[in-house]
Amino acid sequence: MIKKPFKDIELSRLGLGNMRFHTSDPAGLKIKYDEAHEVIDYAYNHGINYFDTAHVYNKGDSERCLGECISKYPRDSYYLATKFNINAEKDYKRMFNEQLERLKTDRIDFYLVHCLLENNIDEYLSCGLIDFLEDMRSQGKIRYIGFSSHASTQSLERFADSHPFDFCQIQLNYFDWFFGNSKSEYEALVKRNIPIMVMEPVRGGRLSSLTPDAEAILKEAHPEWSISSWALRFVKSLPGVQVILSGMNDLDQMRDNLETFSTDDNLSDEDMATLEKAVRLFKKQLTIPCTACRYCVDHCPMKINIPEYLKVLNDVKANGDMNLWKAKNVDSEGTPADCIGCGSCTVQCPQSLEIPKYMAELAEKLEKHGH
Ligand code: SF4
Ligand code: SF4
Repeated sequence: MIKKPFKDIELSRLGLGNMRFHTSDPAGLKIKYDEAHEVIDYAYNHGINYFDTAHVYNKGDSERCLGECISKYPRDSYYLATKFNINAEKDYKRMFNEQLERLKTDRIDFYLVHCLLENNIDEYLSCGLIDFLEDMRSQGKIRYIGFSSHASTQSLERFADSHPFDFCQIQLNYFDWFFGNSKSEYEALVKRNIPIMVMEPVRGGRLSSLTPDAEAILKEAHPEWSISSWALRFVKSLPGVQVILSGMNDLDQMRDNLETFSTDDNLSDEDMATLEKAVRLFKKQLTIPCTACRYCVDHCPMKINIPEYLKVLNDVKANGDMNLWKAKNVDSEGTPADCIGCGSCTVQCPQSLEIPKYMAELAEKLEKHGH
């Protein structure tokens, strides 16, 4: 396992995210401890020394599960990262003590202000949390203080400038680098010399398989690399990145990731160009090229707002099923489930899109996920 210095310690480049363990209940709250402990032990025994959790993961079971397993090892041989989320709980003092108990420790190595958003930044700045964390640090109960962000780059910068934070955790992957905020967030943090912990390097698994044509580009360049490993190699190659978190929940995935992090080689300029070519093709093939001209709309007997629903479907294809809720906000008389497949829309569409097929696809997803 390759390591990188962080202030006066050394952290493994790959960290274990403890939020994706298999659970035994439909709500995903009760982690299967046996399986999870096998993963944590394997990670520890193969050189991973950074373990990330949060008070809210699995409603507390993630911290309990990690604490139960990791506490059998010498305390100075691993680093614990956990977080306070003001949207879930206001009493940070009570929560902090509970976290020490759950994690069976008297010290949190990396403590994060969790999930900075536009709607909580002011509360985070005014609630006294940072002073409390500094107080805990002076008592030796916290080692480093950072924050994780899902806010805009502008809000991230505002928060980063409010306190001398030791590190920051952001969503960073090659898809969001080219099409989202990752690059601007990365640059804002590098400018401030704040080391970056990466979450979602494989975009919740979305980058572990691409379209066949996009995969072929990557396979031709490096037949021996897995598709997921390209995502990890990309973030590993960025000099501002400290630890890359992966929510591994089985040993095969762990072995592939460990192999990627066994050597310190970075993507070459040629590899970067190959990756950019592949991701641009992936995005193009993934996206339904509706131009929102609305020529189809007046011809739909079921009065379905076709372009708006296609926008939702594009979002779901690129960003996952959790975006299906957006279908509820579409201003439309008919829903995708009302489509009768008459094809009146398709003949009007300058892009010759197979609209009935997409309506059926979206309707099926919405039904499957109870929307
Ligand atoms: S195929 Fe569906 S979406 Fe297209 S016009 Fe007919 S009912 Fe409307
Ligand atoms: S006619 Fe085609 S391109 Fe235009 S809004 Fe409808 S689906 Fe989109």
